[in-house]
Amino acid sequence: MAGWFKSKNDCYCAFCKSKRRIYPKKHASVGNFLMVMGFAICASTGLWTWWDPRSIAIFSVAMVSTEIFIYLRWRFSLVCTLCGFDPVLYRKSPELAREKVRLFYDTKTQDPKFLLSKSPLVDLYRKSTEIKRRNEIVTNFENKKNAASAPTGELVRRPNGSVVDRQV
Ligand SMILES: [Zn+2]
Repeated sequence: MAGWFKSKNDCYCAFCKSKRRIYPKKHASVGNFLMVMGFAICASTGLWTWWDPRSIAIFSVAMVSTEIFIYLRWRFSLVCTLCGFDPVLYRKSPELAREKVRLFYDTKTQDPKFLLSKSPLVDLYRKSTEIKRRNEIVTNFENKKNAASAPTGELVRRPNGSVVDRQV
């Protein structure tokens, strides 16, 4: 019976593996249909009489709105809020889904609030910054080393006019 009122389900993101909650219902159910019908009859009774043909128009508009609302709620709940992965888009085009995750990463890593979140992308960002930092240190060290041990035979003119090897 509790399942009747349970609108969200637990699931795991296929990309970042984090646990999250989604709306599993994709379309309006018989229950929604009956509720909308009840609403249309009530509205019609309040405005005109309960059998007024204009209630059909109210019913149609309310039913279409309900269906759109339920579908969009399902669609947006599927996109992972921690990594931006969209499984529906991935089924249509893996390249587009990858670009979306890349865009999400580039945008979100500029946001300090996101860097305090539990997203697995934060770990990835920290690791990549650490690697970049180490690479810079190594490059700087190698540049200095190369500058210190310039190839012999490179001649430099000193201010007093004498020409010497650079290392001398
Ligand atoms: Zn995810």
